[in-house]
Amino acid sequence: MTGEGMFADIPVEVGVVFEGERIRKQQMHAELGGPNVEEKFEILEVKGPGEVEDGKIKIIGPDLPQMPEGSSHPFGTEIAVAGKGIEPDMAGVMERRVHDFSNWIEGYMHLNQRDAIWLRVDKRSVKKGLTLRHIGVVLARLLRSAIPLIEAVEVTFITDPEEVHRRIGRVQGIFEERDARTRGMTDSDVDVFFGCTLCQSFAPSHVCVITPQRYANCGAISWMDGRAASRVDPKGPIFEIAKGECLDAGTGEYTGVNAVVKEKSLGNVERVQLYSAFGYPHTSCGCFECTTFYVPECDGLGIVHRDYKGKTPTGLSFGAIADSTAGGRQVDGFHGLAFEYMRSPRFLSASGGWKRVVWVPSEVKERMKDQIPPELKDAIATEKDVTTVDALVAFLREHHHPIMDRIKAPEPVPAAENPGTEVRRPQTASQNTVTIPGGSVSLTLKNVKIHAERMIIRKKQE
Ligand code: SF4
Repeated sequence: MTGEGMFADIPVEVGVVFEGERIRKQQMHAELGGPNVEEKFEILEVKGPGEVEDGKIKIIGPDLPQMPEGSSHPFGTEIAVAGKGIEPDMAGVMERRVHDFSNWIEGYMHLNQRDAIWLRVDKRSVKKGLTLRHIGVVLARLLRSAIPLIEAVEVTFITDPEEVHRRIGRVQGIFEERDARTRGMTDSDVDVFFGCTLCQSFAPSHVCVITPQRYANCGAISWMDGRAASRVDPKGPIFEIAKGECLDAGTGEYTGVNAVVKEKSLGNVERVQLYSAFGYPHTSCGCFECTTFYVPECDGLGIVHRDYKGKTPTGLSFGAIADSTAGGRQVDGFHGLAFEYMRSPRFLSASGGWKRVVWVPSEVKERMKDQIPPELKDAIATEKDVTTVDALVAFLREHHHPIMDRIKAPEPVPAAENPGTEVRRPQTASQNTVTIPGGSVSLTLKNVKIHAERMIIRKKQE
């Protein structure tokens, strides 16, 4: 699709070719949502017949040409759809398509979802005449053409900060209701899981496996959403996965999941253990809400979310950790995930669950305060407690974090016996995976068994 034909009235090109286009700060006309503003959201709701005026595009607040160059704005997108046969359960899945379709517009970059959206508009596209009204028209047409059940679409963009503020509470309430629908269900209550490959345009070997107890990485698609989507379009990007034989209930490994992931990743990923951060962890695309990171000094896991602007105790930001995690890879200890998955009783259960978590930003701690076991609340550090790994290890020891039972305290070696000798913390094995940290390189050995009473590192003599 291009500026001709279906989009002849749009002043920029429209097509899948623009997916993945990045707009740098120097090149942006304006930023909508993103890390510089508190309030932003994007929601699609299913309405009854007669409640949606097909083709209506409404802008509340300034449109793109009225925005000063280089400015950031609170932003809301509300899309209402109606049509016979559309189930309300499909809203989350249709909403996720807004991400793809927005990225088809030349000079319009869309990242994330729900109340974490981040958009940028390129100066050149605004010079060509692009407005929010055009963007609304493109989204409405693409949604109708991709989902034939939709008979009417209405799009409202809100750039007025007070109006965004007034509406965001209702929208977040709807997200919470959607997420709550699968709480209480377990994987053994169902015969099928669902898979999603929508992110393969960015991460070609990534396949999300969505179960009642494992929400999709982006936080936008639950097992219920997957079921609704696959019923309407069984050959679409969201599809049913027969569980098959359970190979390991502890790690969450199933023959059916392995077979589908292997096929859909074109052989790049052969095994997935749904509830483990090590060995064969679930792959990570790039739009995960949070990611874990491994802290070898205490064999623990940190978690950092997309909106966290500071550095973790390892010295790395969310962006740097996300780079090591994303792309459809399986990286020990680095694991993209959704907030809702942290509410699951199976949250990283094969890797220790919350008992393995040693650091989270204070915002995550507050958001997950009802999920973190009471005995761990004071033992998990935040940026307010520590800023370095050494301080983190001391904090964990002082607060009797259970992770300290996994590693022994360093044994001092008499200096007279071993001049110039340092003793490092013992390395620990997890599911036959050992990670040995280094200065700029870390070495990961898989499927090995190592027994060492003591590890001695000697300084080379001149
Ligand atoms: S993160 Fe997963 S579920 Fe969400 S859109 Fe991407 S592939 Fe689909």
